Amino acid sequence: MWDRRAFLTGGMRRLQGLFVNSNCLGNQKIVCRSCGDACEARAIRFKHDISATPLPVIDLDKCNYCAACISVCPTNAITMTASMRNKS
Ligand code: SF4
Repeated sequence: MWDRRAFLTGGMRRLQGLFVNSNCLGNQKIVCRSCGDACEARAIRFKHDISATPLPVIDLDKCNYCAACISVCPTNAITMTASMRNKS
């Protein structure tokens, strides 16, 4: 289970981004919308292309980094990245 608090250990990290990797079921032509359904901020949309299975696209301007999408993804296809904050 994703632990956002542990990830941000004492505020030493700054969130940078959220990415969908090639493990996404959409790349195997399997329709899955679990991450979009879990996103209360409505930051995840699915590109519609009549010739392909929809893939999720994350709008980082809307994302509140709650990590609900990470928790529900059956293939661990979503990754959150962070950098270390300066101590000064
Ligand atoms: S929950 Fe995971 S597998 Fe499903 S659409 Fe989102 S990123 Fe892809």
